[in-house]
Amino acid sequence: MRTDILGVGFDPITLPDAVSAGAALARDSGFHYVVTPNPEIVQLADRDELFRSILYHADLVLADGIGIIHAAKLLGTPLPGRVTGIDFAAGLMQEMARSGDLKLFLLGAKPGVAELAAERLKATYQGLKIVGTHDGYFKEDEPVVEQIAQSGADVLFVCLGAPKQEKWIAAHAKDCGVHLAVGLGGVLDVFAGVVDRAPVVFQKAGMEWFYRLLKQPSRIGRMAKLPAFLGRALSVKMKRKHS
Ligand code: UDP
Repeated sequence: MRTDILGVGFDPITLPDAVSAGAALARDSGFHYVVTPNPEIVQLADRDELFRSILYHADLVLADGIGIIHAAKLLGTPLPGRVTGIDFAAGLMQEMARSGDLKLFLLGAKPGVAELAAERLKATYQGLKIVGTHDGYFKEDEPVVEQIAQSGADVLFVCLGAPKQEKWIAAHAKDCGVHLAVGLGGVLDVFAGVVDRAPVVFQKAGMEWFYRLLKQPSRIGRMAKLPAFLGRALSVKMKRKHS
């Protein structure tokens, strides 16, 4: 059963279990997808019915962000912990490198970034099979879908930012012939070394968002959604208390 956080259901799952479940989905014959909502995405979904429905129908909904964990606690339905998209992706690639039976395609980010990420990832995860890359600034979907289908990939990382990547997955990923698509935001920038991830001390303190803000002050507008998100959680809690 999923844990509802302000209209988005999250799977109460730990990182190792999410990685195992993801690998099983990638080996399954059907088509599956995973989403990694943060508070900003929950806020977007509140105003976008199509987006909400895409999140609802995902095979796995992972809690990407300390804000989700705080809200879950506040609402009296705590989740086992944060499962960030980047940690999930890393765990999955480790398993793919170990087993050698799954092929990966990287889609998204500015031209050149996915290629650079692929080179670095192949060096980090020895044995990882990356069978193709494409940047995220294309006009026509069909040639991209065709390229992915031709590559024979089983797993597709879609890194176009939210809600674009989830909508792209829902509309096109099945036609790419992959078994698992994952919406992962800006992770290719991190894997390529274009943007660095917050040091572990920030991650452990639940302050990764603050580090990103320091590095990219232009994110302030987007981050302003966080207080609104927590405010909504608080107001639901208060209403429940008084009813
Ligand atoms: N992006 C893209 N195509 C677009 C818009 C964005 O490939 O049309 C990429 C962008 O280059 C970046 C990622 O999508 O690599 C979004 O990163 P962001 O940090 O905004 O995502 P978050 O991790 O916060 O969801």
